[in-house]
Amino acid sequence: MSYNIEKIRADFPALDIKIHDKYPLIYLDNAATTQKPRQMLDTEYIAYTTRNANIHRGVHTLSQQATMAHEHAREVIAKFINAKESAEILFTRGTTEGINMVASIFCSSQMRSGDEVILSAMEHHSNIVPWQLQAEARGIKLKVVPCFDNGELDMETMRSMFSDRTKLVSICYASNVLGTVNPVKEIIAVAHSHGVPVLLDAAQAIAHRKVDVTDLDVDFLAFSGHKIYGPTGIGVLYGKREWLEKLPPYHGGGEMIEHVSWEKTTYNELPYKYEAGTPDFINSVALAESINYVSNIGLNEIQAYESMLLSYATEQMLGIDGLKIYGTSVDKEAVISFLVDGVHPYDLGVLLDQQGVAIRTGHHCAQPLMQRFGIEGTARVSFALYNTKQEVESFIKALNKSLTILR
Ligand code: PLP
Repeated sequence: MSYNIEKIRADFPALDIKIHDKYPLIYLDNAATTQKPRQMLDTEYIAYTTRNANIHRGVHTLSQQATMAHEHAREVIAKFINAKESAEILFTRGTTEGINMVASIFCSSQMRSGDEVILSAMEHHSNIVPWQLQAEARGIKLKVVPCFDNGELDMETMRSMFSDRTKLVSICYASNVLGTVNPVKEIIAVAHSHGVPVLLDAAQAIAHRKVDVTDLDVDFLAFSGHKIYGPTGIGVLYGKREWLEKLPPYHGGGEMIEHVSWEKTTYNELPYKYEAGTPDFINSVALAESINYVSNIGLNEIQAYESMLLSYATEQMLGIDGLKIYGTSVDKEAVISFLVDGVHPYDLGVLLDQQGVAIRTGHHCAQPLMQRFGIEGTARVSFALYNTKQEVESFIKALNKSLTILR
């Protein structure tokens, strides 16, 4: 399909919102969460109204239909990220839960005091704090790969960080602050050459470029539904079968067991071993629909389109006196963090909102990265498949207007 921006925009009811009853919404906070297409919203409604029954083990028709839809959704997701089998797709509440899960089950079963995990300087708090919790509980050491001023990872230092105590690398595919797309294939190859598995935080990559777990040969990969035009509260953890077989369960409860007795409980087969409790069988189906939506447009087309928006916005912003962009890596997602001399990003955010432009300000859940750059926070615009060049122009106009007020 060719890139039909009018048709795409018509699929997103939220893009018709008027801010302060006046300004058309210019939504540039897509790295935080994305707006939703009608197709996904309709799917959710249909699931609730025609297939709402608890899944697995149900003898009645509705339960069987709901089960089939949920398992089909898993297959859609497996195909989307090119997993070898749908049993490697675990439903979670989001990226944060996926990372916590790996941190917990991996560290408890594969690591002991003094063993090391390698992270990077540009991680979101959700790929820092779960490891710190494990470090506190088990004496695990965290090693942090630095990044250069342009936001690219220092790969040479990374290569030198591996020791015989390194047990895992956990790193973001793309930074939510700098936009940097890390050389993840290379990182995985380096880690594997040391016999070390890799977890990728794909929260910022999944909606913007083709993510192929088989090609990457990655061991674990987490993402959130709400960042790929899907529902909030559901996400995915991909894990290679060999790891998922070997590692212990995370949560205990219904669904994840084979047989329970007071003497000994045995666990269910994959993927159910990791899915305790009633699964989110409505949102799973809605997530698969948003994935179909993205696939129908095509990830390569989306990537090219967003990259055009990134270049266009970057070029215009660099023309503004005193404006500095944080993150100028060669391979970059359509995320622009910036500061303007003498202007607090919060004030900028408020003034832009008054003109209908939604941006994010603050530390973006990456305080160590802010420290690395010696700043408190930034203003950030982030683009999605439905943004337009005209919106970039309106944003630049609103930005200039705000700056004349603020300085
Ligand atoms: N990792 C990155 C890079 C993110 O940008 C985010 C959210 O902004 C997360 C993890 C956490 O995602 P969630 O809050 O959906 O679990």
